[in-house]
Amino acid sequence: MDRIADYKAVVGALPLPAVIVGQGKRVLVMNAASRELLGHNATGAHYTFILRQPSATAALEQTLSDGAARTARIDLSVGGEPSAFTIDMTPLAAEPSPGVLLVFRDVSGEEGLGQMRRDFVANVSHELRTPLTALSGFIETLRGPARGDTAATDRFLGMMEVEAERMRRLVHDLLSLSRVESEARLRPETRVELTEALREAVETVRHAMKDHAVELSLDLPEGEVWINGDRDQLMQVARNLLENAIKYGAGEVDVAMSLPEREPAMRGPAVLLDIRDNGEGIEPHHLPRLTERFYRIDTHRSREQGGTGLGLAIVKHIVSRHRGRLRISSVRGEGSVFTVVLPR
Ligand code: ADP
Repeated sequence: MDRIADYKAVVGALPLPAVIVGQGKRVLVMNAASRELLGHNATGAHYTFILRQPSATAALEQTLSDGAARTARIDLSVGGEPSAFTIDMTPLAAEPSPGVLLVFRDVSGEEGLGQMRRDFVANVSHELRTPLTALSGFIETLRGPARGDTAATDRFLGMMEVEAERMRRLVHDLLSLSRVESEARLRPETRVELTEALREAVETVRHAMKDHAVELSLDLPEGEVWINGDRDQLMQVARNLLENAIKYGAGEVDVAMSLPEREPAMRGPAVLLDIRDNGEGIEPHHLPRLTERFYRIDTHRSREQGGTGLGLAIVKHIVSRHRGRLRISSVRGEGSVFTVVLPR
């Protein structure tokens, strides 16, 4: 009897839901967390009052009979939401063993993360396989039907260069994304002057503007604009948004920076960077998903333009590292505005 009181004290102190089921298959101890999780106090009752899923009862029966530890996985509802749990079942070490300790762990978050990781790997593999398949095809053609044909060889080498460049861009964007993600919690400490950084970002897309015959207007506030930030990352934000406006727009891009003294989302003074294009616009149902990795409205069009589907995901991460916001608004047939809001 004393021993049960000791077990009660120990199990009661555990921060996780825990239960002891005795050799007689009755519940000997339940701590407060397990009573809350399982809905009632079943102390003294048969364990099936709290555990009914066959995967768990079978494991518990085996552990009670052979004394070997096991883990079962069950689904429970927590606050009306279905959640995945594991139950670690460990026989209590004493002779004879008074029973089995059951510790419940909510693993829904881990399973969700695992699924996200698997989806990401599947997406990356798919994105890399597309140019790889094309490259293998060109190599085969060069070895076979196009052998000795100088004009065809030149043409195929050109196409191979395009595919290799696509792979290079994808690897570059994947590395950028992973770097930005790893720094997500590091608040930038260096000072950056934004008008000069933005002018430089515009210079880096001049060649793309020329290719797409785009006219760009730049409306900057007078004087310098200093904030705490990571200059390279903020330039990447501007570059990615400018490249999109050039790629998906229709010849006109307006860039404007303004300095509102009170921006509700920042609860104080802010910098607003608007990048507006006159493209065909975006249907509202796409807007919330645009910053997901590899989400594209028109995959074919994005690929044709050399897109990786990662540009806006990178933008979102950088902006949130700077405690800012990305707003997207768009009117079909008129164009889109991507606004970066940063605290000042
Ligand atoms: P991508 O490399 O495909 O351009 P992004 O992450 O930069 O990847 O953008 C994701 C998708 O959002 C694009 O494929 C495109 O469908 C859409 N998009 C981005 N910017 C614009 C824009 N200015 N106008 C219309 N659609 C856009």
